Amino acid sequence: EVLNKIIDTKGSIRVFCRVRPFLLTERRPIKEPVSFGPDNVVVNCSGARKEFEFDRVFHQSATQEDVFGEVKPILRSALDGHNVCVLAYGQTGTGKTFTMDGTEEQPGLAPRAIEELFSEASLDHTHSVTFTMSMLEIYMGGLKDLLSARQSLRSYEASTKCNLNIQVDSKGSVEIEGLTEVEVTDFAKARWWYNKGRRVRSTSWTNVNEASSRSHCLTRITISRRGDAVGSKTEVSKLWMIDLGGSERLLKTGAIGRTLDEGRAINLSLSALGDVIAALRRRKGHVPYRNSKLTQILKDSLGTRSKVLMLVHISPRDEDVGETICSLSFTKRAR
Ligand code: ADP
Ligand code: MG
Repeated sequence: EVLNKIIDTKGSIRVFCRVRPFLLTERRPIKEPVSFGPDNVVVNCSGARKEFEFDRVFHQSATQEDVFGEVKPILRSALDGHNVCVLAYGQTGTGKTFTMDGTEEQPGLAPRAIEELFSEASLDHTHSVTFTMSMLEIYMGGLKDLLSARQSLRSYEASTKCNLNIQVDSKGSVEIEGLTEVEVTDFAKARWWYNKGRRVRSTSWTNVNEASSRSHCLTRITISRRGDAVGSKTEVSKLWMIDLGGSERLLKTGAIGRTLDEGRAINLSLSALGDVIAALRRRKGHVPYRNSKLTQILKDSLGTRSKVLMLVHISPRDEDVGETICSLSFTKRAR
C-alpha cells in the first residue's frame, strides 16, 4: 500500500485542478456548488456530495505565479531530455486560455515557460542549447500549420488543404511532415512567433471562442542540447503546451449540423486522450494511441519516459455543475 503510494506520487502523470474566479458580470450564489481542499474538490449537486482528488488544487485566488511555480520542475525535465506535455482541459469559459496564454499584465504558462527555458539554458555552461518552435491546430481531424508563411490566407478551407502527415521514425519519435519549425534564439522572438500563431488561429474563425471550443491548439518547443566536449551527442526533447478544445457535451446545447460534427470531433479526441492517459496510469496493456490525431501526435510525449501535466479547469457557477462533474470525472479516470 505504502509502496504503491510512493510509486504513484512519483508517476509521470500529474493532474491539477484550477477553478476560475467569478467574473464581475456573474452573480455569486449564496451556497457555492464547489468547495476545495489542498488536494480535493467537493461538488454538491442536488443533495449528492461528490469528491475528487488531485495532485494539486488551485483556488479562485491562485495567481499565475502560483500555477507556474508548480509547473517549473517539469521544465527542468524537458531540459534534461524528457518529452513533456502540459495540457489545459475543461469546458469553454473556464480559463484554459487564461492559464496557458494569460494577459499582458498576467502572463500565463506558455510565455513564462519559454522565458524560463531561455534563462535556464543561459546558465548551462557545459552544453549549448537551441530551441525551435512549431504551432498547429487540430480541427475535425485535420491539421493546420499556424506558423506557415502561407497562413496569411484568411479562409480555413484554403489552408486545411495543406494537410500534414504524421510520421513515426524507427526510434519511435513522432514527426509531422511539412510542419513549419522556426528557430527561436531569444525570448522576444519566441513570444513574437507565439503571438503570431495565436493570431493566425483566431483570424480563420469568426470569433475566438468559436475557435477554441471546436479545435485544439498545440505549441511545441523542441530543445536540442549538446555537450561542449568533442564528440558529444545532441539530445533532443519536446515541450508541448496544449490548449484543448472545450470539453462541453454539445448534444445538450442543442447544436446541429456542422457545429454538432465539430463538437463530436472534439469529444472523440478528448475521450481518446482520456483512454491513453488511463492506460498509461495502469502501466500495462495496450495504449490506444491510434484513435485520434491528437494522441498520434503526442505518442512520444505521452509515454513512460515523458512527463505529463493535465490542468483541469472548472467553473464556479451553479449552472455549470453538470459539466464540472464531467470534467472532474474525466480525470478521475486519468489519475
Ligand atoms: P477558456 O479558454 O477555457 O474558454 P478563458 O481563458 O477564455 O476560458 O476564460 C474565460 C474568461 O474568464 C476570460 O475573460 C478570462 O480572462 C477569465 N478568467 C479565466 N480564468 C481566470 C482567472 N484565474 N483569473 C481571472 N480571470 C480569469
Ligand atoms: Mg480558450
